[in-house]
Amino acid sequence: MSVFSHKEFDQHEQVTFFQDPATGLRAIIAVHNTNLGPALGGCRMWAYENDEQALKDVLRLSRGMTYKAAITGLPLGGGKSVIIGDKKTKTPELMRAMGRAVNTFGGKYIVAEDVGTSVDDMNFINSQTPHVVGISHGGQGSGDPSPTTALGVFMGLKAAVRHRLGKNDLQGVRVAVQGLGNVGYNLCRHLHEAGAQLFVTDIAADKMDLAGREFGATAIALNSIYDMDVDVFAPCALGGGINDETLPRLKAKVVAGAANNQLAEARHGDALRQMNILYAPDYVINAGGLISVYYEHLARKEGKAYDREQVLKHVEKIDATSDSIFKRADQDGVSTATAADRIAEQRFKQTATSKAA
Ligand code: NAD
Repeated sequence: MSVFSHKEFDQHEQVTFFQDPATGLRAIIAVHNTNLGPALGGCRMWAYENDEQALKDVLRLSRGMTYKAAITGLPLGGGKSVIIGDKKTKTPELMRAMGRAVNTFGGKYIVAEDVGTSVDDMNFINSQTPHVVGISHGGQGSGDPSPTTALGVFMGLKAAVRHRLGKNDLQGVRVAVQGLGNVGYNLCRHLHEAGAQLFVTDIAADKMDLAGREFGATAIALNSIYDMDVDVFAPCALGGGINDETLPRLKAKVVAGAANNQLAEARHGDALRQMNILYAPDYVINAGGLISVYYEHLARKEGKAYDREQVLKHVEKIDATSDSIFKRADQDGVSTATAADRIAEQRFKQTATSKAA
């Protein structure tokens, strides 16, 4: 397995592999870029089929965090970690071992929750290192970032509908939501309250039943979600959903969801543009959770209380940021993914130049 020559390496500052035989921990922590500040990013726990998959995932996710922090206007860098395993192998001891691994970065990497990890896990990590956010409220933390992420996705989705469909509200707008987890389910709530018509899918049938009862959502078979005749496709499960196989099947006019790395490859962003499907770049509209944990980090650093109002004000900016990206893409004749990347790179790469000068 190569690292420096890996297709997704993209000038990472640091990639460290950890193993702890006593607890069974096998983890990778990747720090992509710290020009704007310490690298903050979640810890994903997933039963990767092999080490290569885990490495690829952590590199892609970590890079995405650099772009997310930059586009969101936060003084943070990008990093991420993955633990190879699942619910069956997760123990408090293993999470504490992960805490010790995070601590070796001395604050250059700050961990948060992600798919497969929870607020409880962050509390276990916190017993070994202060460099963790998203701990429980009782411990002065901001708790689960997912509802805030969902709110940001809702803002970005509305901005995309306005831009592409010329509609200022979501009344009667048909939305297909893939994944009813912590973010997807909360997003459904906002969409339902705004009058959208929901079509949902999840591996877990009980979540679809609940969404049916609570939001009047129609349950769709897992693989049929791509074929739905809807206005918006909202990927809220795992990444890579927009690919060569699924693209020709999409009928939606907007793609806007929470999942990280929705485009299997960068060229799929261009393909969406050619199909006149407006893509709200994932890292732009799913930044609500990052905003939430950033303000927790700041409050703890300054010894102040966590200010939820400040968080909500910042999350509201996702509407204007999305709008400016859509306009920049139209002006430059490029995909929205490219337009977002250009703005983010201008911010974090310029800082590197001024640092070096
Ligand atoms: P989660 O684990 O709570 O939910 C994921 C859901 O997707 C689960 O219900 C799972 O059963 C379902 N799922 C998995 N594969 C599926 C498939 N093929 N088809 C349909 N459903 C499937 O995760 P989450 O916290 O809701 O995050 C969802 C996505 O958003 C992830 O990609 C995550 O990286 C991203 N994200 C989350 C946050 C956050 O604050 N939680 C922030 C930014 C980005």
